[in-house]
Amino acid sequence: MREITTCSRRNFVRGAALGAAGLAAVGLTACAQPAAKDSMADAGEGAAPELAPADETWETDVLVIGLGASGLQAALGAAAQGVGVLAVDQAPDMVGTTNITTSGYLCVGDKLQMAQPYHYEVREVFDKLNEYSNYCFNTQVLKAILDASSRSSNNLIDAGLPVKVVELPERKELTGPTLGQICGHAYDCKGQERADIFQAALDKAGVDSRYGVTAEQLVFDGDEIVGVRCTQDGKAVDVNAKAICLCTGGFLGNEDMVAQYFAGSRVVPMGNPACKGAGITMALSAKGQMGKAFSLSSNEYGGANFDASPMFAFRPGSGSNEALRLVLLGSIIVDSQGNRFVSEEIANKEAMHCAEPFIRAKTYYTVVDQDFIDYVKSKPLGETMGDGRMKKMFADVMIETLDDDLEAALAEGWVAKGDTIAELAAAYDLPDLESTIETYNGYCETGVDEQFYNAPEFLHKVATPPFYIVQSFPAGWLTLGGVKCDASCQVVDADNKPVEKLFIAGADADLFCAPYIAGGSANGFAQASGLIAGESAAALAKVS
Ligand SMILES: Cc1cc2nc3c(=O)[nH]c(=O)nc-3n(C[C@H](O)[C@H](O)[C@H](O)COP(=O)(O)OP(=O)(O)OC[C@H]3O[C@@H](n4cnc5c(N)ncnc54)[C@H](O)[C@@H]3O)c2cc1C
Repeated sequence: MREITTCSRRNFVRGAALGAAGLAAVGLTACAQPAAKDSMADAGEGAAPELAPADETWETDVLVIGLGASGLQAALGAAAQGVGVLAVDQAPDMVGTTNITTSGYLCVGDKLQMAQPYHYEVREVFDKLNEYSNYCFNTQVLKAILDASSRSSNNLIDAGLPVKVVELPERKELTGPTLGQICGHAYDCKGQERADIFQAALDKAGVDSRYGVTAEQLVFDGDEIVGVRCTQDGKAVDVNAKAICLCTGGFLGNEDMVAQYFAGSRVVPMGNPACKGAGITMALSAKGQMGKAFSLSSNEYGGANFDASPMFAFRPGSGSNEALRLVLLGSIIVDSQGNRFVSEEIANKEAMHCAEPFIRAKTYYTVVDQDFIDYVKSKPLGETMGDGRMKKMFADVMIETLDDDLEAALAEGWVAKGDTIAELAAAYDLPDLESTIETYNGYCETGVDEQFYNAPEFLHKVATPPFYIVQSFPAGWLTLGGVKCDASCQVVDADNKPVEKLFIAGADADLFCAPYIAGGSANGFAQASGLIAGESAAALAKVS
């Protein structure tokens, strides 16, 4: 591993020296602890509070915070420019980082795709994404990401990561939802095997990666960012850096931030609970500007509830409570007044891309009768699930535990059962439920959904008791939407002026449109933006 030797003269002359033993313990040459600095992170209107002196100080050229999809690429990208790179993650080791369990990523024009008989140009994908998002992307960032996505994918392939390319025997039309499948790669290993490959790539590149290190806040000297206050094993560690890449994976693990940016909603976190918005909070403390588009890559496997155990529906054999699956199988869905608010057919078919109506509803309910229960139990789930990937994954899976799971859900309080719709309405205080069901049952009889135009096969009359109502909340893999940046992934302020030394990538950055439109783009954009951020940070560090 490369030794970190860069010392800031200013810090050295102003700092109180760490003992030689302390320096040796962290493998550093003689750098001094900086003087106590101002933290603007908690600054109110008065003077910024002073940070207590750190127990240790580390020095580096580029500091990468977070070693998930974006941080890995940031570290590799910076190291390839020949600067010293220190990358930290709060996880105890690489296996604990988020990107060890992900399924796949979107990229354009990497070496695997170029070897196919058909491949797509950046321009085609750029045009489609813009068209499908109604031009909601930050165009300069989107273009930079798509350009970089072949290099970020090649980084993983060159590191020996097994990935499956989508084989294209014929050219297919690109659409928003299919783009991820057409330009996507599936990771072909996970867990320890994937972690070992990522770690070997970092080691080979000379990145000093340290785990169990949690970044807490930026450290300032006056208005200048000089580093980041971290904690490790209860010690306060200041990491001084010439440039910093914020790659902490968004804010799905932070209920307050979710409520703030998702219009008061609650979202069941399916991702890494450690992603609490640390990178975003740090960027905002340096006057970075939050973007305006927020969404989710939402649960394509079914519903979710904070009181359910486990909290969300997931893969076959994962111990999911199958009652959560009912939410996306095509029966009536209502909001907290008991009114329909979404086409159940669209929710069924576009589960991963259909987060917006559910975020707006905050809490929602599926109502089924005994006939519907018998119907979904009578056939493989693949026949009732709508998402193409789910249809394949659940092609032979029968929903065998549903009766027991409903009982468990009743005990946990997120399902109610009754012989009348009035009983269900009373259970969750849904004043309009009875009239909604009456109207909906009328649509089922005529086969014409006058409200949301569901096809007849998505109209399931609610008439045969006992009736069940399943309460659910939006659930997501990651938050989409973060701090604004320019095409070099440098954080910008409210006037779009770059914030000195700060780069941002992945779910911390404002890269995405809302809603989420292309499967695999979360991971692909995180990787490519990370690579750009790392390279940009290294370029700055070289001239600092
Ligand atoms: C199980 C799962 C499967 C997924 N599958 C896919 C998929 O197939 N395709 C897809 O496009 N997306 C998928 N996603 C979404 C996924 O989150 C993104 O693709 C991608 O990981 C986002 O990259 P990122 O770098 O922004 O954040 P992450 O990969 O989440 O990395 C952030 C890292 O920062 C660390 N961290 C957070 N706070 C701190 C702190 N204060 N100090 C130090 N370290 C910190 C975390 O431990 C984490 O390792 C999946 C998510 C999950 C949870």
